[in-house]
Amino acid sequence: MSNTGRRGGCAWMVRLLVAIAATATIVPGAGAQRFFPGSPPLPGGDTTLVITLGTGTPVPNPGRDGPATAVTVGGRVFLFDAGPGVMRKIAAAGLPIDGVTAAFISHLHSDHTLGLPDLIFSTWVMGRASPLRLHGPPGLRRMTDHLLAAWSEDTVIRITGLERGRPGGYRLDVRETASGVVYDSAGVTVTAIRVPHGDWAHALAWRIDTPARSVVISGDTRYSEALERAATGVDVLVHEVYIAARVAPESRPGGDLWPRYMKAFHTSDVELGALASRARPRLLVLSHVLFMGGTERELLDGIRRAGFRGAVTVANDLGRY
Ligand SMILES: [Zn+2]
Ligand SMILES: [Zn+2]
Repeated sequence: MSNTGRRGGCAWMVRLLVAIAATATIVPGAGAQRFFPGSPPLPGGDTTLVITLGTGTPVPNPGRDGPATAVTVGGRVFLFDAGPGVMRKIAAAGLPIDGVTAAFISHLHSDHTLGLPDLIFSTWVMGRASPLRLHGPPGLRRMTDHLLAAWSEDTVIRITGLERGRPGGYRLDVRETASGVVYDSAGVTVTAIRVPHGDWAHALAWRIDTPARSVVISGDTRYSEALERAATGVDVLVHEVYIAARVAPESRPGGDLWPRYMKAFHTSDVELGALASRARPRLLVLSHVLFMGGTERELLDGIRRAGFRGAVTVANDLGRY
């Protein structure tokens, strides 16, 4: 190669680095993962962290993004659910913006999946080159096929146009499951637990076992004996909940069914307090809380009255446990 050629190569590299630095930084030694500038670093080794990225419900509360929880083990990032706002929260939490190790969808309710196109396409635009591993219930592939079709014009223009997007970088590796171990690699296992969630044929909770900790994430469920068994003695139980005393018929067509809906689809503070008193997690984290006008105090009092004496906290977005 001539000197001119080498200089040309260097100039190209400099331009690329400047372009990358303008939007995000590459952190060397982290498997070329890309992070948003200024975000907090992840602990190394086998240190296992639970980060409640989004703790909200279908209500577009500006203080609580849609349901999404990350479990990190060193540089590996496991994402559970992809509610609206998921990529902004991934960036804010210091997690890689060019893709997670694997993502897991509890069920196909919109509040848990509205962030899926964001997760699929934003990670690609940020540099993802390999298929995103995505686990979830039957029906997930049909949903993601529709999402890829819906944004097909975008993907063609990004690849063939001046952006020169990586061909195929938006691809997915979708694995549908009804229950059982879905991930087992380098000391980390993720197990799907089938849970009852009203009319849904498939809804999943997850148990994550790492060299350092055990974690159970409920997804959406009414009281589940299988989940209680899986959560017995875990380090962290992240569970959805509503305040039983706040449930009342709503003044809208069909609103008289609201108490029946809550009982069939979700877990009350009374039920969760009793579950936790038997399962005895080292920490109970309340997320996806349906307050219905109630307060955190009311919720925690309900959990206590039902018999749980251990550590319990109401999660906020970007909480670390
Ligand atoms: Zn749901
Ligand atoms: Zn939900």
